[in-house]
Amino acid sequence: MRDDFPRHLAKELDAADPLADLRDRFVIADDDLIYLDGNSLGRLPAATPAHLDRLVRQGWGDGLVRSWPTWIEWSRRIGDRLAAHALGARPGEVVVSDSTSVNLYKLAAAALDAAGDRRTVLVDAEDFPTDRYVLEGLAAARGLTLRLLPSDLDEGLRLDELRAALDGDVALVVLSAVAYRSGALLDMAAVNAAARQVGATVLWDLSHAVGAVPIELAATGADLAVGCTYKYLNGGPGAPAFLYVRRELQSRLRQPIQGWFGRRDQFGMGPGYDPAPDLDRFLVGTPSILALAPLDPALDVLAEAGIERVRAKGRRLGELIVTLADAWLTPYGFRVASPRGADRRGSHVCLHHPEALRISRALAEAGVVGDYRAPDRLRLGPAPLYTRYVDVWDALDRLRDLAERRGWERVPGGPSRVT
Ligand SMILES: *Cc1c(COP(=O)(O)O)cnc(C)c1O
Repeated sequence: MRDDFPRHLAKELDAADPLADLRDRFVIADDDLIYLDGNSLGRLPAATPAHLDRLVRQGWGDGLVRSWPTWIEWSRRIGDRLAAHALGARPGEVVVSDSTSVNLYKLAAAALDAAGDRRTVLVDAEDFPTDRYVLEGLAAARGLTLRLLPSDLDEGLRLDELRAALDGDVALVVLSAVAYRSGALLDMAAVNAAARQVGATVLWDLSHAVGAVPIELAATGADLAVGCTYKYLNGGPGAPAFLYVRRELQSRLRQPIQGWFGRRDQFGMGPGYDPAPDLDRFLVGTPSILALAPLDPALDVLAEAGIERVRAKGRRLGELIVTLADAWLTPYGFRVASPRGADRRGSHVCLHHPEALRISRALAEAGVVGDYRAPDRLRLGPAPLYTRYVDVWDALDRLRDLAERRGWERVPGGPSRVT
């Protein structure tokens, strides 16, 4: 029993939680396992296995190629659902296809082609690696300058740092709305406005924001965005990503992969590439129907919860991590490595400790799954749809026990394929 914040207080928060019942909508195979990695791979919704079984047996087994007239709409239909429930975009602005990396390439290339003789691309130096690598390749191929904006590992990119780098030579700015490591949340409206003043285009990566914080693509004046569906959206490992292109820009942008799904009158199968007039031009080839399908049952749960309530709970879960980490873990050399104010964070929190890699491994052995992010950070992502306050309490309690007895010392600290 911890006197400063006893466990029953967490139980009381759960008792008052309007989303508490939604935990039953997920497969919880092991009730002792505390899963704080919903920002890396969301849990399996309970309705998904039967949904997939029906799709495989009826859609594929019985329907065969006759199912395609339905399936071919799914990228757009599910995109519209995402737009309505999670992205604040209008119908016909979001489509689900390919991976986040590939969509980032497609939209970045499209924006650069449309940017005239501007020669500079800006990216947060601490952004997710795939974003930096994709841009590095595009910049090298086109002889452009890629400028890495210095940003604080814990606090994220400062707006004045971005403003200082914006000038008439900037073609494209790529930023994550929520930083994958610290969880730092950017003011999308302010960034979009600052970029627009100098005529630069912003491409948002929403991978760690979507399904955790309300995103208002239309209201914040966003032009382009991409993001994952297997994190807070619970679409399953490797579920296809989404891309967003503001309606007014669609006919002016061309992405570089000229596949048949992007062509006007696709089944006319005519000579030469002629891009579809609307969002379809950002598609490439046959969508992975089996991988798209889980997004429907996953979005059902999100729609029922409502993104505002998800956000409210996510803030409180994060606050609980910060409160308990300050009280229990500071004496053992931990430090909160995320913005302290819930307004400036997404739904995950990082804790810094020089032994974070071994601690995250030892913690997993103690039944708490978070993850490690270099350098020296334990990342905890309590997804609001299925994580209880008492889970956070128990996780921090186990972490404190581990710290007390230096339980990581017998755990190897060597490299592994996945962290
Ligand atoms: C998870 C993540 C990705 C992953 O991209 P994939 O192409 O799905 O591997 C990209 N960007 C950000 C910011 C992420 O958090």
